[in-house]
Amino acid sequence: MSKPKILVIEDESDILEVITYNLEREGHKVISCRNGEQGLSRIRTDNPDLVILDLMLPGMDGVEVCRQVKSDPVTRAIPVIMVTAKAEESDIVLGLGIGADDYITKPFSPKELVARVKVVLRRGPLREQSGGGERVVRGELTIDLGRHEATISGVLLTLTPTEMRLLHFLASHPGRVFPRSHLLSRVIGEDAIVTDRNIDVHVRALRQKLGDAADVIETVRGVGYRFADGRR
Ligand code: CA
Repeated sequence: MSKPKILVIEDESDILEVITYNLEREGHKVISCRNGEQGLSRIRTDNPDLVILDLMLPGMDGVEVCRQVKSDPVTRAIPVIMVTAKAEESDIVLGLGIGADDYITKPFSPKELVARVKVVLRRGPLREQSGGGERVVRGELTIDLGRHEATISGVLLTLTPTEMRLLHFLASHPGRVFPRSHLLSRVIGEDAIVTDRNIDVHVRALRQKLGDAADVIETVRGVGYRFADGRR
């Protein structure tokens, strides 16, 4: 595989420099621009493997850039990592809700950034996972989407297709918090006429079936759910 090409959209020179330096050191090809309009056109013309997108940009902000990238069939498969200021939890929720693949909060360490980039590049676009027959193993839990099979310590779980996708999706991103609306669109489908609370029902049923392992799915008050990252 040739060098992954990463587009960094960031208006602050210091941060842009740090990001560029660290990604190039990892062997990535880095291109950059400093505002949303330019960023969007570079995404369309340069077809990067990954976009690192600052939220606060002059002119068109990061949210709008992300929204446009993710609503265009040509560009929506390109993974986007959003960069947000630490306090902006609502922005994180909004960004994930409109399809960002991951986020990182300022200030971040170069090590964290490089690790995040690696993960996102490795897993590729989220939207293509559901058809991939991908197998996820987390401790005693194994989820094989292709075979529609989930087991705990080798014991088969009886899950509905929605529960299977939900568990697979969460387990694919341990430690990441996903808002209910995001889970709904990824797991149930954007056309479904359902409310955010609908996801609660699926989570409750799923936890029941997980039995002793129910706590792998954690509720994050006021936001949504995450798969326990197992580091505690
Ligand atoms: Ca900025």
